[in-house]
Amino acid sequence: MKRILVTGGAGFLGSHLCERLLKNGNDVLCVDNFYTGRRSNVAGFMKTPYFEVMRHDVCFPLYVEVDQIYNLACPASPIHYQYDPVQTTKTSVHGAINMLGLAKRVKAKIFQASTSEVYGDPKVHPQPESYWGNVNPVGYRSCYDEGKRCAETLFFDYYRQHKLRIKVARIFNTYGPRMLPDDGRVVSNFIMQALKGEPLTVYGDGKQTRSFCYVDDMIEGFVKFMNSPDELTGPVNLGNPGEFTMLELADKVLKLTRSRSKIVFKPLPNDDPVQRQPDISLAKDKLKWKPKVKLEDGLKETVRYFRKLVSEM
Ligand code: NAD
Ligand code: UDP
Repeated sequence: MKRILVTGGAGFLGSHLCERLLKNGNDVLCVDNFYTGRRSNVAGFMKTPYFEVMRHDVCFPLYVEVDQIYNLACPASPIHYQYDPVQTTKTSVHGAINMLGLAKRVKAKIFQASTSEVYGDPKVHPQPESYWGNVNPVGYRSCYDEGKRCAETLFFDYYRQHKLRIKVARIFNTYGPRMLPDDGRVVSNFIMQALKGEPLTVYGDGKQTRSFCYVDDMIEGFVKFMNSPDELTGPVNLGNPGEFTMLELADKVLKLTRSRSKIVFKPLPNDDPVQRQPDISLAKDKLKWKPKVKLEDGLKETVRYFRKLVSEM
């Protein structure tokens, strides 16, 4: 049995990861400051004797004894990370320093939830790990993008300087049950709007693209990567290469929910990337991992989750 720390463990991805690690027979410590995470996300396995929740902000040092660390703490939705941008940068940078310091002290292997946002508004398509990106350092998204880029730098410096065992994953857009209904991300927005009979808000002309990965596939990728040979430090892209425009996504959501909602067009947010698609050759080759869940099937599960939530409102 391994003792595993998951920071941001009460959030969307973190709670699914904790659940999966518990199922695999581990002792899991979830650390979260509940900024965007919720107790209800982990309520289902709260009584498990091998699960523990600690309210803590990763910007401050943490003294625990663990074998592995998954560092996921950081708000991921643009409205949440832009609400308090200084705190967002601190969470990524101070959080990385504190978790790397912890990993160094207890000799734990450490995984970083990095992001496709390190590629910014990419000029290379699809994006391989070798691409250095096109990021605005002083824009509204910079607190998140540059915070995550600096965290990657810290991970690689701890690897080179202190011989830490690191795993840096660049996560592309992921969706599924337990996303916050009001966190502003496109999948949750469209589904909630469709279920409530409100207009679907497409930003810009809706021709910008994203590639959506279902949460179960993503968590499988995290665990495979963490348990891969030490030489595989990453960065490794994890995501689903299936690429769709936001208009196509809106259309799919309307069909699946059988909603009569209309589509309305709203201004495109600042620095919104035009296109995004992961090149996952490395993950396929080294981790023998690729996503299995089709967008339609993943959306069905997500709609089921939000339908229940709406019925309880
Ligand atoms: P989320 O907002 O649901 O989860 C983040 C969690 O971190 C929340 O529980 C929040 O309360 C916690 N947190 C925030 N600041 C903290 C702090 N200072 N100390 C302790 N806990 C803190 O987001 P998510 O979608 O689950 O994302 C998890 C991680 O994956 C994030 O690091 C995010 O950047 C990364 N990621 C997610 C996606 C995606 O599509 N979901 C894409 C790329 C990267
Ligand atoms: N988007 C949209 N309508 C919404 C929310 C988002 O058209 O109600 C667009 C947004 O402009 C972006 C894409 O959907 O082009 C994905 O946005 P999200 O915030 O989910 O993720 P990110 O931009 O971080 O990839």
